[in-house]
Amino acid sequence: MTDPSDSLSLAEQGSGPTDLPPPAPLRIAPQTALFLDFDGTLVEIADHPDDVIVPDTLPEVIASLAQALEGRLALVSGRSIAALEAMLGPLDVAIAGSHGGEFRPAGTDTVAPLAEPLPDRVVAHLSDFASANGNMLVEPKPYSVAVHYRRHPEALKALLTKAEALAHEENLKLKHGKQVVELVMPGSDKGAALTAFMERAEFAGTQPLFLGDDVTDEDAFRVLEGLGGHGVLVGPMRPTAAHRRLPDVAAVHDWLSAALRTHDQSEGN
Ligand SMILES: [Mg+2]
Repeated sequence: MTDPSDSLSLAEQGSGPTDLPPPAPLRIAPQTALFLDFDGTLVEIADHPDDVIVPDTLPEVIASLAQALEGRLALVSGRSIAALEAMLGPLDVAIAGSHGGEFRPAGTDTVAPLAEPLPDRVVAHLSDFASANGNMLVEPKPYSVAVHYRRHPEALKALLTKAEALAHEENLKLKHGKQVVELVMPGSDKGAALTAFMERAEFAGTQPLFLGDDVTDEDAFRVLEGLGGHGVLVGPMRPTAAHRRLPDVAAVHDWLSAALRTHDQSEGN
């Protein structure tokens, strides 16, 4: 699902290629490492983050891919790890939640923070603002706080002004995603998460692929350029640091499933 206002502002940001080729078929090979965003990449974006519909087959697809890739797969999401597991069930795959604020390699329950926790006062300030502006949904996370304005587009300008002031006062990063404005602790971004995964033994020497749809995924796309990998933008074309593109969530599922089928055939399963 695309927000026309987001597309417009992004389209105004400058030139670049008018489109990107699709990625080559995914190969289950020793040099393949796969990093996947969640909302807008593996599941369709919903009006409310709790209303996302997770396809029945998705947890199995993720687990099978992680197994086939021998652990060289990680979910990298803006959601907290707890929120992701509430939707997908417990998964023994590597996960970075809260834009990398929470970092959990596979095979452990221990979450290593890549950032300091967000001060409570930031959530309090934004909650006051959201109540006074149509009761926008405020979603506190361990290392960030998101304000969802999908139902209150008229309040966006005031929200951005408020968020910019808070970001300046508290030394936070401001991220403007699809229908969401988020204040994030420094060090907590998807590029930092990807870098931390790639420093681990299981990802050493791999060519990473990262699939993501949103402006917050650009941090990861940019990091990939120095790692010999490729970013795959999911959704309509826009200015991006990705080098490949898949048109929508369904195309992502097809691309992933095709790799599993090919792998199963070659294994003789
Ligand atoms: Mg996303």
